[in-house]
Amino acid sequence: MLSCKEATLLMSQEQDRRLGMGERIALRLHVLICAGCNNYRRQMHVLREACRRLGGGGTP
Ligand SMILES: [Zn+2]
Repeated sequence: MLSCKEATLLMSQEQDRRLGMGERIALRLHVLICAGCNNYRRQMHVLREACRRLGGGGTP
């Protein structure tokens, strides 16, 4: 099982590269049982979306 540190590391890497199957499953499992990382992940996605919309990094 991942530690919270490993899980958050994977979450940040997830933004930049495609995770392997094993990494994705491990991360998903961790987020399922860990409320803290679940919240962290959700916030990260919200922030990412907001940045994308404001920054105009990619056209829809
Ligand atoms: Zn955690």
